[in-house]
Amino acid sequence: MLTIRLAPGRESRLQAGHPWIYRSEIARIEGTETPGAIGRILDHRGKFLGQATVNPACQIAGRLLSRDEAPIDDAFFERRIRQALTRCGRSASGPDACRLVFGEGDHLPGLIVDRYGDLLVAQILTAGMERLRETILEVLRRVVAPRAIYERSDSSSRRMEGLDLRKGFAWGTGETGVWVQEEGLAFFADVAAGQKTGFFLDQRENRQVVRRLAKGREVLDCFCYSGGFAVSAAGGGAASALGIDLSETSLAWARQSAERNGLAASCTFVSVNAFDQLRAFAREERRFGLVVLDPPAFTKGRDALEGALRGYNEINLRAMKILAPGGILVTCSCSYHVDAPTFLEMLRSAAVDARREFRLVELRTQAADHPILLAAKETQYLKCAILEAVN
Ligand code: SAH
Repeated sequence: MLTIRLAPGRESRLQAGHPWIYRSEIARIEGTETPGAIGRILDHRGKFLGQATVNPACQIAGRLLSRDEAPIDDAFFERRIRQALTRCGRSASGPDACRLVFGEGDHLPGLIVDRYGDLLVAQILTAGMERLRETILEVLRRVVAPRAIYERSDSSSRRMEGLDLRKGFAWGTGETGVWVQEEGLAFFADVAAGQKTGFFLDQRENRQVVRRLAKGREVLDCFCYSGGFAVSAAGGGAASALGIDLSETSLAWARQSAERNGLAASCTFVSVNAFDQLRAFAREERRFGLVVLDPPAFTKGRDALEGALRGYNEINLRAMKILAPGGILVTCSCSYHVDAPTFLEMLRSAAVDARREFRLVELRTQAADHPILLAAKETQYLKCAILEAVN
């Protein structure tokens, strides 16, 4: 059995509820260091703290699975997954899509499971969960009873864990194109070809906010991907909704969704670089009543934070400039290295540069089915600020 002994004083974060053990916090490893093996975590005096998957090659060398001594087996996963299904914003069946397992937020670090109707999409991100893959798939089949499980273990972060990328049906087969139902609107998603697991489930509640605010407004949805915000805005009675994105493939899905909801007349999707287009709109003095900014994470590491903030500043500044009087900016960041205070500070400085004043209507976050551990701020990665131009 693998045993990890922490250096003196390094147990307090774990005891406060955070699930990570950094490599630098480990004093000694006893036993065979197979990447991803389960180890007993002890403080420097030998007191048991819990069980974790251990990958000493990674900076986050341990991820806590449990705080008791019960074996990490089939029954463990069944308990964990059944509990996860009861959490806010989730349902184990039905036509709506939702996240069923959100890694650390559900005490299953390294595992993501999304449900698209009767199709599950699983993402295994760590060597620890990779070793438990067969058990996890078996428990998901038994507990959720899907028609198939598609695996999207193709995130490049797997390479840091020493894992290859994998993508395809893990169990069952069938269509990978699905229709997501959301508050009476339908959205097309392709779980094989789409980003992440196919659709941005984390923005579900923010789409509803945009839908409510969009009525009668001319809406611009930047980095629109498959048109989640634009189609929601049109569904809420926007005068028009223009979605822009670099990816032609995702724009085709967006058009398909607009069509399916009978909203094709008010929706337009154009393939263009959002940075260039925002600049062009500013030059043309074009104005919008509501602008959505939901760019990809500009940084995956802490090192690139400054460059990322410059990127955020630039698009927010430009978006602020093209808002009509009283216009609304819905601006997001999904990079967990940019925390909420930093994000707001960036918005303040962008507003100064744009020479406009705003009210912060609301500071929102990810949908409730992406649970946030109070003790682990990294589990809160999405910021969504709703700003209203004062004049
Ligand atoms: N708002 C979307 C998710 C956005 S994901 C939703 O709610 O579903 C980020 C998107 O940004 C991707 O679709 C990617 O193609 C696009 N993208 C990345 N860089 C871009 C750029 N410079 N200009 C326009 N789109 C870009």
